[in-house]
Amino acid sequence: MNPPSSTAVSKGETGQPVDPSLPRAYPATEGPRPARDPGFVLVVNAGSSSVKFGLFDFQTLQPSARALLDWGGSSQRATLTITPCTTGEHDSNSSKPTRCELDAPDYRTAVARGLELLCGTASGLHGDRSVRVVGHRLIHGGEEIRQPVFIDATMKQTIRRFLHLAPLHIPAGLEAIEATEAALPGVPQVGLFDTAFFAHIPPCAYLYPVPYEWYTDWGIRRFGFHGTSHAYCTLRAHEMLGRGPKGVRLVICHLGQGSSATAVAEGVAVTNTMGFTPLEGFMMGTRSGTVDPGIILYVQREKGLTVEQVDEILHHRSGLLGISGLSSDFRRVEQAAQQGHERSRLALEVYAYRVRTMIGALAVTLGGLDALVFTGGIGENSSWLRSEACRGLECLGVYLDAEKNLMTRPDDDVAKADSPARVLLIHTREDLMIAREARRLVLESNTA
Ligand code: ADP
Repeated sequence: MNPPSSTAVSKGETGQPVDPSLPRAYPATEGPRPARDPGFVLVVNAGSSSVKFGLFDFQTLQPSARALLDWGGSSQRATLTITPCTTGEHDSNSSKPTRCELDAPDYRTAVARGLELLCGTASGLHGDRSVRVVGHRLIHGGEEIRQPVFIDATMKQTIRRFLHLAPLHIPAGLEAIEATEAALPGVPQVGLFDTAFFAHIPPCAYLYPVPYEWYTDWGIRRFGFHGTSHAYCTLRAHEMLGRGPKGVRLVICHLGQGSSATAVAEGVAVTNTMGFTPLEGFMMGTRSGTVDPGIILYVQREKGLTVEQVDEILHHRSGLLGISGLSSDFRRVEQAAQQGHERSRLALEVYAYRVRTMIGALAVTLGGLDALVFTGGIGENSSWLRSEACRGLECLGVYLDAEKNLMTRPDDDVAKADSPARVLLIHTREDLMIAREARRLVLESNTA
């Protein structure tokens, strides 16, 4: 474990721009475009109970097909749903999906079979084309992995070292990598790590005020998550603002089933609201987000809850579900609140209050705000949440246009025309970000 470097940022306290000699986790542009290449980039996003695949044209990065492999609670069978995409268009223009049942004696076999079927279907639809590179979404790269990387045997060993930090996701990611090796032998594989976008957050933001040895001996520090989404939104916000990263300060709120916000200065993440684990920060669908750690001691000592019970409650029975007592789904809770369900109204109030206070804290960390970005299912779709979250932020130059805000259309700007800070709705594209970076690494390695 390396002690925190005081040279990591020029003005850590204020979160102002990082040392320009440090490499960015992701470059400011899409990278080179190949002149003509008839292959695919395959994106694999492996979760513990489902795997999402995306197949992109290598040259244009337009999606060719998407697929979902879902165990649906079974240990022996999985369903593969393949949705071809109309060439030259994005998500909304997908054709009719096809579904098939697969034998799934183990995770790796099911993923390999799913890959073969997806690539076969896509080749049939788009001509016989091969996969040029596979990009994997991986959750945790610890302090070591700070860039997208090629995956080889040594890298797999390195990833294994972070298993204790993401015990559900890392085994799934490694299995998916090995399934890809079996299904597509010889095809280069690239890993993108959610934590990598936060490689440059300063010590004042990542150290917890606990004994310093917890950090040096046990590696306890804040990491940050949802990095691939925050990286995509950073690049897209720069595009929408029509300004390069120079001088641009962003607060990005990714509000989905899991939620986090990131402060970004000049294209580099300064801090994220999630911490050592994705439990810190915003209140979420079923996760509590930040709570007084004294509560956790109290309920164990005084109320007799076990570690396992507290773990289960904070991860699966808190957040929107915990307060509303009804649902973890924001839309459902919103509907119930409109129909007079008091605890749903309360849950939404707490949710919005926490988003607003966090935006304020992050904006002050940056010394001001050029754009506030909303993404994720809730951020993109709930005009109520956006208007509540922006209430009082006029002091930071955020003036939401109430009418525009009602017409939810990512990617759009819903700030008043004369608002000093813009308010951007962005449809996050983690899969595209992974495809872009995987292609960039392959092209750069070919020209090296
Ligand atoms: P995940 O984190 O699983 O990717 P999403 O980003 O898809 O999740 O976000 C899911 C959340 O978005 C759910 O709580 C859902 O209710 C909410 N959501 C989706 N559409 C709407 C909508 N039109 N209005 C309010 N909330 C919505």
